[in-house]
Amino acid sequence: MRMREDLGIRELINADSMKTLLGGTLMPAPVLDAMRDAAGSFVDMFELQEAVGHKLAALTHNEAAHVCTGASAGLVLSAFACMTGPDIGEIGNVMREGVEHLPRREFVVQCGQRNPYDPSVELAGGRLVQIGNVLQTFDWELEAAIGPRTAAVLFFAGRHLGYGSLELEQVAAIAHRAGVPVIVDAAAQLPPKANLWEFTKKGADLAIFSGGKELRGPQASGLIVGRAELVKACGLHASPHQRRARSMKVGKEEMLGLLAAVEYYLAQDEAEELDRCERIVAGWVQTLEGVSGVLATREFPGTDGRPLPRARVQFEPNTGLHGASVRDEMLLGHPAVAIAVAAPDAVYLNPELLRPGEDLVVLERLSEIVGQPVGAH
Ligand SMILES: *Cc1c(COP(=O)(O)O)cnc(C)c1O
Repeated sequence: MRMREDLGIRELINADSMKTLLGGTLMPAPVLDAMRDAAGSFVDMFELQEAVGHKLAALTHNEAAHVCTGASAGLVLSAFACMTGPDIGEIGNVMREGVEHLPRREFVVQCGQRNPYDPSVELAGGRLVQIGNVLQTFDWELEAAIGPRTAAVLFFAGRHLGYGSLELEQVAAIAHRAGVPVIVDAAAQLPPKANLWEFTKKGADLAIFSGGKELRGPQASGLIVGRAELVKACGLHASPHQRRARSMKVGKEEMLGLLAAVEYYLAQDEAEELDRCERIVAGWVQTLEGVSGVLATREFPGTDGRPLPRARVQFEPNTGLHGASVRDEMLLGHPAVAIAVAAPDAVYLNPELLRPGEDLVVLERLSEIVGQPVGAH
């Protein structure tokens, strides 16, 4: 393997999550085949984007779909789309004058849903207008924030974010009453598969998914689904057009790779996958139960608030272990294992991305670290 042998890069066991930082995800054979196929032909890229979009729309029960280079890029394109609509004259003005002249440039976002990806909207020239606070947002705050300058309401899906935030249905009802669209960033919100159509059904005008997370598509791919007019507007700003969002180019390999990934993903057995994860977590918890100074529990929902379990491993003060120190030690060990910090005194072990047998390696490595005498850390 070239990464290891030639470049000296360590391969990781990923018991953390589908993080770009860790290489995203692993593509199954049908996705790789589709990308290899795509790499062997010249095509008209407009034609390909449209045809792939039609298929993806049908597969996800949406009006329209567009392949972009990732969920963050999807946010940029969606922001452009909501500021200009599919009006080519307006898009021409944006090419000449930027977005400053546009009447609608504000994106309302709930405080409890703020996250590291929302600046993508600002990259498009949008302005984030925050409502509510960390604990809660009220419907009247949303109503008051929407006005003639509002381009869209930005909504981040996931049970791990803002427990006191307004629900999507409520947000959509208020936004639509004012004639304003709703963008849902659902980058990591699969499973369930049904989310590919549920967010739009609940009122999202555009919903965005990462291609390189649960879909197991190309790492540099993303999926925008939703209302035809807005999806079209996304495409009008994007490559292969030589327009503002040209830098977020999608290759034919990503387009066909993502299509294959969505087909593959929809054919998977969700119950079986849940079962596999449950078995691994149960095994971890059971083994760690016998280790003194350690409290292991099954946590559900798991990573990013999704309906999959993970193990939470907490260290008692007398062990001298900290979440961050254990994480670092796992990552620097042999084999290197990536895990997430859950709290100052705890870590998460996520079964999702483990290949057969790796769950035992994770356990062995953790046991070694936990078994070391206090002070060795
Ligand atoms: C991962 C993630 C993104 C970014 O997705 P990319 O496909 O890597 O661009 C955006 N928003 C949220 C909420 C995410 O979890």
